[in-house]
Amino acid sequence: MALKGLDIFKLSPKKNCKECGCPTCMAFSMKVAQGAVDIAACPYFAPEALAKLSAATEPPMKTIKVGAGDAELSLGGETVLFRHEKTFVSRTRYAMSLCTCMDDETVAQKLEDIKKVDYERIGERMFVEMVYVNYSADGKQDYVELVKKAAETGRILILDCKDAEIAKAALEVCKDGKPILNGADASNYEAMNAVATAAGVVLGVSGADLSEIHDTVEKLEGLGNKNLVIDVTGADVKETFKNAVQIRKAAIKDGDRTFGYPSIVNLHKIAAGDLHKQAALLSLFTMKYGSVIVAEHIGYAEALPLYGLRQNLFTDPQKPMKVEPGIYPLNGADENSVCLTTVDFALTYFLVSGELERSGVPVNLIINDAGGLSVLTSWAAGKFSSSSIAKFFQEQDIEGKIKSRKLIIPGKVAVLKGELEAKMPGWEIIIAPNEAVQLVKFMKDFA
Ligand code: SF4
Repeated sequence: MALKGLDIFKLSPKKNCKECGCPTCMAFSMKVAQGAVDIAACPYFAPEALAKLSAATEPPMKTIKVGAGDAELSLGGETVLFRHEKTFVSRTRYAMSLCTCMDDETVAQKLEDIKKVDYERIGERMFVEMVYVNYSADGKQDYVELVKKAAETGRILILDCKDAEIAKAALEVCKDGKPILNGADASNYEAMNAVATAAGVVLGVSGADLSEIHDTVEKLEGLGNKNLVIDVTGADVKETFKNAVQIRKAAIKDGDRTFGYPSIVNLHKIAAGDLHKQAALLSLFTMKYGSVIVAEHIGYAEALPLYGLRQNLFTDPQKPMKVEPGIYPLNGADENSVCLTTVDFALTYFLVSGELERSGVPVNLIINDAGGLSVLTSWAAGKFSSSSIAKFFQEQDIEGKIKSRKLIIPGKVAVLKGELEAKMPGWEIIIAPNEAVQLVKFMKDFA
């Protein structure tokens, strides 16, 4: 059962030294009880107290690391069922599937397609992070070769393999990349556990139903393996959805730690060949509750809405979405191009930069540090004022980097014109229209 703050406080060092970032040991204890802070953040708990508390204060779902070096990713570690309760922690990751049943040309095309989706949105790289490698009944002898090809993409591999000998051979060529070996079930868990443990990789567990999966996970934990993910894929979409929701509920609401592992959803098993259905299911299982989702194809058409959804879902609702303040030259702008300034709220940035790009007029878009708030909110909060803009221009040495002295400001803060002219001598302040959609005509007329 989860511990209360007071139980933790009784065992705390009571030094009130603030080294953990909390003002008192009591505040720290309350946060640990809520799952907001790891008990290891205090260096002064006695080992006996730690031993007593660690298990009870662990998050209900384990965080599992996959991949190596720069490619390492965390899965799971979730503490709530709904994003608005607090925040979701580890982004859903996407995999494209390869199979020995595909001919060489298809495999080569798929490997190319995997590399095609790769772009940045609000400071986050959007790409297909994983490759799922499967073999057909008559393709076992080709599996290791296919795994080798998949490993060359540099993406994290998921090996769909229930044969311990084949798994061993496949891991020989890719274990350094820390893949997931997705192949343990009730019939083979001991052998697969030995292979995964020897290679130091995460083991995926599947079963005929949730009860069988529960038993197998318990047995693997009994063998000392807690480096697991659960493959929740059922016979069809309905069963898979039910499995994904039930294991998440059991882990988080009922405190059943046997189900406290990240999940894998295999769309190519429940919607084979139907790419439109898979595109819809990618979104569904991003929301409910796939840690890794495997699809047959993820191109730009699928990625753009999907990755946008994921980014919205996995950002902390208590922190505004921001872009990096600085100068963004658009349409080939140089030091002589006009400047336009606005705030660092991500939505504002995308609306304004999109319209400016549509205008085709070279312009230096200067994004102020306004705490991630919208134009009027940041103006009302004093974070987008004449003083803050002038200070930002000085700190960023805008005058040293740009020769133009024409600055366009948002129409909603037209009131700043006079103050800015006084605080930034030499600059001509121009008022933009109120709405971003009017910028195309405004910029064309201006040019
Ligand atoms: Fe108390 Fe430990 Fe935090 Fe210091 S670091 S205030 S001893 S909980």
